[in-house]
Amino acid sequence: MDTAKVEEVVGDFVALRRRGVNMIGLCPFHNEKTPSFTVSPSKNLWKCFGCGKGGKPVHFIMEHEQLSYPDALRWLAKKYHIEIKEREMTDEEKREESIRESLFVINQYALQHFIDTLHESEEGQAIGLNYFRHRGLRDETIKKFCLGYSFERRDSFAKKAVAAGYNPELIAKTGVCYSTDDGRLQDRFWGRVIFPVHTISGKIVAFGGRILQNNAKAAKYVNSPESEIYHKSDHLYGLYFSKQAIMQKDRCILVEGYLDVISMHQSGIQNVVASSGTSLTTGQIKLIHRFTDNVTLLYDGDKAGIKASIRGIDMLLEEGMNINVVLLPDGEDPDSYAQSHSTEEFEQYIERNKVDFIRFKTNLLLDEVGEDPIRRAGLIGDVVKSIAVVPNEILRSEYIKKCSEMLNIGEQLLVKEVAKIRRQKAEETYKKQISEKNTPAEDTNTPDEAPAMDEFQQSIISNYNNPLHHKEKAIIQFLMKNGGKMLQVPENKATETPAFLETVNSHLHYSFGDDGIELSHPLYKRIFAEAGEYANDVEFDPEKHFMAHPDAEISSLTAELCSEQHILGKEAAEQINDERNEQAVMFEQTTRLAIAYKLSIVDEMLKDTMNRLKDPGVLSNAAALQEAMEDFKYLKETQGALNDVLKGYGFGNVALNS
Ligand code: ATP
Ligand code: MN
Repeated sequence: MDTAKVEEVVGDFVALRRRGVNMIGLCPFHNEKTPSFTVSPSKNLWKCFGCGKGGKPVHFIMEHEQLSYPDALRWLAKKYHIEIKEREMTDEEKREESIRESLFVINQYALQHFIDTLHESEEGQAIGLNYFRHRGLRDETIKKFCLGYSFERRDSFAKKAVAAGYNPELIAKTGVCYSTDDGRLQDRFWGRVIFPVHTISGKIVAFGGRILQNNAKAAKYVNSPESEIYHKSDHLYGLYFSKQAIMQKDRCILVEGYLDVISMHQSGIQNVVASSGTSLTTGQIKLIHRFTDNVTLLYDGDKAGIKASIRGIDMLLEEGMNINVVLLPDGEDPDSYAQSHSTEEFEQYIERNKVDFIRFKTNLLLDEVGEDPIRRAGLIGDVVKSIAVVPNEILRSEYIKKCSEMLNIGEQLLVKEVAKIRRQKAEETYKKQISEKNTPAEDTNTPDEAPAMDEFQQSIISNYNNPLHHKEKAIIQFLMKNGGKMLQVPENKATETPAFLETVNSHLHYSFGDDGIELSHPLYKRIFAEAGEYANDVEFDPEKHFMAHPDAEISSLTAELCSEQHILGKEAAEQINDERNEQAVMFEQTTRLAIAYKLSIVDEMLKDTMNRLKDPGVLSNAAALQEAMEDFKYLKETQGALNDVLKGYGFGNVALNS
């Protein structure tokens, strides 16, 4: 982290010019003509004031090379020739690793063979190349997607690869060939044009082979089987070529076929991937989610395929993605539409015809059920189920509003139904957790050691979607990133305390401890408490400490939080622009964060008190009413006092909802 200089790391990819103490350049993450991408060598931070991305050098590598946090660290270590001591692999792991590497090598060899066959052999040119050209692909497109051709002869690759010294067993493992019952090695894709499937980083994991004539007897596509390197559900066709455009446009268009992706690229729409015929998997969704929150599903005009895929799409909602759907005119698919329209026309069509997914689904089902009341009720249940999985509360209530209009149903009823499903889900999750926890220890668990079911269940359910958790996450994230830094507490004239320095960790610890505050989220609470044990240790580095934590739940949360860049980005911007010293900035940031959290606790308590004040039971009981009113008054005063603290430091009101 110290060795990687931001100007050197970024400078490998972006042309930087000096401007004052900072350097500027054109942002690699969005399209711009005037530079808003800023690098601060003194702070070792980068930040784009156009698209908002920013962070440390390692975050630049994560973003630019699309690497995980650990892989980005490895990347930097390599650049600076720093040796990383990782856990020694076991012999078994080494063996598996070397098999995987061999499979990639063979796939690469096969790829070259298919490409050469397409372009250089007579058969390849006459049949394969001809086919692609007939499908409207330009030569540069064919080259870019590494399309190929596999000879009609059923063992031409097998023979060549074995002669070149590749191990027949490993060749079969890649799936490019298979062994017949009598032990001969045969080509899987003979007589087909070849679509290679790239990993995100461009290695070849699989192939799709398309038959040339439409022939009812043979399958249109033959695809590589699952292998040690290919798990179908973790790949999306075209992502390698589309990731940059997906990031730039902050949107991923999802289509069905290889040729849809390729034709759209050729026509200039490059943020496209294909799920290749199967319905989406969680792995694929996570893959898209690394690049964007926004997905557009682009379907053929006929509605047959849509219904089948709708189930998978609830999973996209569940991941918190914004989804809209575009239907092409009847008889068109993305491939044909791209071939017969300009980029602008296609983009315009998408823009004008996109419908958000919930509305789309509701309409689709409405068409289907007509006026039959029982089927209508079923439909409502179906739509409500989709809405219930949306994690964002605001989005959920927007969807509810829309559906209440479309279905002509009271909003409150929908709200109730959605809440019911969410509660059931929470209970199920809880029960599953409990049974997973209990199964292995069943024999040794005496009855009185078993958790108090109902109470615990209650707490899980009431914690579900607890509005405080978001704030707590921000605190933990801040603590991990900045906990070891020093802040300067200014002089307090009223209490005659002079200014002093302490760590952010210590400040948070005492600030919460003094008010008797514990975080409500169990995992965050544990982390916060553990950091508190080091409150007086100025050497304590929370990121390092928790990253290497023996509890996997904690270490993986740390990796996740420390690699989230949009939050870091915002801070980086503040720091680059802030003229004050870091200790003053840290004090302000820490104080704001702590007070914002305290204010939201007060907020929750106020809500609760308001409810009591409306409760008929309380209203009819003078003592209870008196008590509730006093609580209300006290909480209001506390709210004022907390805001006064901020004012006292000259920070103004906290941005409560940030
Ligand atoms: P084309 O336009 O040449 O028919 P396509 O890529 O548009 O090709 P679709 O028929 O739209 O193909 O099918 C979508 C995707 O589903 C294909 O790209 C392929 O990945 C997969 N697929 C189609 N048919 C099969 C099959 N018989 N076996 C396995 N996968 C298939
Ligand atoms: Mn097609």
